[in-house]
Amino acid sequence: MRDIAHFVNGQAFNGASGRFGDVFNPNTGEVQARVQFATDGEIDAAVQAAARAQIGWAATNPQRRARVMFEFKRLIERDMASLAEILSSEHGKVIADSKGDIQRGLEVIEFACGIPHILKGEYTEGAGPGIDVYSMRQPLGVCAGITPFNFPAMIPMWMFGIAIAVGNTFILKPSEKDPTVPVKLAELMMEAGAPEGVLNVVHGDKSAVDAILTHPLIRAVSFVGSSDIAHYVYQTGTAHGKRVQAMGGAKNHGLVLPDADLDQVVKDLSGAAFGSAGERCMALPVVVPVGKKTADELRERLVAEIDTLKVGISTDTAAHYGPVVSAQHRAKIADYIQIGVDEGAELVVDGRDFHLQGFEKGFFIGPSLFDGVKKGMKTYQEEIFGPVLQMVRAESFEEAIALPSEHQYGNGVAIFTRNGRAAREFAARVNVGMVGINVPIPVPVAYHTFGGWKRSAFGDTNQHGVEGVKFYTKVKTVTARWPDDRIGGDVEDSAFVIPTMK
Ligand code: NAD
Repeated sequence: MRDIAHFVNGQAFNGASGRFGDVFNPNTGEVQARVQFATDGEIDAAVQAAARAQIGWAATNPQRRARVMFEFKRLIERDMASLAEILSSEHGKVIADSKGDIQRGLEVIEFACGIPHILKGEYTEGAGPGIDVYSMRQPLGVCAGITPFNFPAMIPMWMFGIAIAVGNTFILKPSEKDPTVPVKLAELMMEAGAPEGVLNVVHGDKSAVDAILTHPLIRAVSFVGSSDIAHYVYQTGTAHGKRVQAMGGAKNHGLVLPDADLDQVVKDLSGAAFGSAGERCMALPVVVPVGKKTADELRERLVAEIDTLKVGISTDTAAHYGPVVSAQHRAKIADYIQIGVDEGAELVVDGRDFHLQGFEKGFFIGPSLFDGVKKGMKTYQEEIFGPVLQMVRAESFEEAIALPSEHQYGNGVAIFTRNGRAAREFAARVNVGMVGINVPIPVPVAYHTFGGWKRSAFGDTNQHGVEGVKFYTKVKTVTARWPDDRIGGDVEDSAFVIPTMK
């Protein structure tokens, strides 16, 4: 059995905890490797290595740091095919989708290549007589990232791409379900020229997360995962004096107005609800058609579209999506479908009986469609995170906009319409962090920022873009006075009142 080790101070680091996690191949249902779980002492060793490396890395000029990022981008592009293959074999998403996962992370690295420009501070010449004021952004020190299983390449790069470019060193604790690609990313950072200790990977479960959240040398923690754990991470990390951003779960709605282009909407919904087996925080698992006519027509077309979907192994280039990540997660999705039936929603398409010939032990589940889902239902309130699309019918625009606005999650939302005024009003009023207008998965580009509202994110700053730079840096403001002797260099009296600008 292959063992997946930690990566500390520029090399593989075998832990001695004797605790491991199983890494499955979701296509076959077999355990393909086991990942070592770190002890508190092993995490401390990684943090100490990162702290030693940080002094020299912060002193490396930003352009040289950016050159490492440029080279890292080139190396990932070189290895794209093999990285995508590994990613798919542990996660289950189809290869083209794994390439998208890596590519979206690389786009943050591209942004990080411009860090010398982004880090330039502000300057006021002559704020007073002989006085100039300037500010600079300085790195925090050692930062950490804790990431979910569903984007094992993109989300680590959201975090360490920015954190390292601005001069921090980093401890990554990836999901224990698909840990191989994160280790490969750290190896590639070394190959790209990052000094030892700049990017370290430690594996583990809650105990590793707790060791990170309480370690005195870690200054900031970025977390992405489910909401209850995000909340716990936020509370524990901030109670230990750390800066924390913790992104949580989601339940994204897609509103369909009567004037929408239904042919396009059906294609968009199908990809956004069932792509990656619905295991995306920006998936669109709730559709809200406005008016009975729109709902009836949409339902009919969705049923026909679902019939064309192909579920297959992740290397099948004709498959629209592959297996879910684990048997446990598959069972949880099937349980939610049963709860939906029990609470009175109409199960129009039932994906539970799907089996893939030759891969009977794989974690496959077919697409499901519910109609008649109501606001109070548990299956509407909670995140299912599987290939299940729920239709909630609304009578009016007001009723429709209230649904995502009042939902406990507020990650993403979309509206499909040809009416610019309605779209504009929707974008302005909806109580959700990321909005798509005829865009089903509105993940912002890397130089904007990613972050939801309400229980989808705890903390004040978003991931990547300028917000990411703010998260991983602190501002220092310098007020400097250089009196000019030629125009009266007398010693001034002591001032006992606060200086003001008269
Ligand atoms: P998860 O919350 O189970 O795990 C996330 C991380 O937390 C992992 O590294 C895991 O090892 C660790 N962890 C697990 N149990 C823990 C505990 N009890 N205490 C402390 N840490 C613990 O999430 P997941 O199943 O890997 O990922 C899916 C979830 O992530 C979904 O809810 C999805 O919506 C969310 N997600 C959110 C975003 C976003 O940006 N908002 C993006 C992707 C995924």
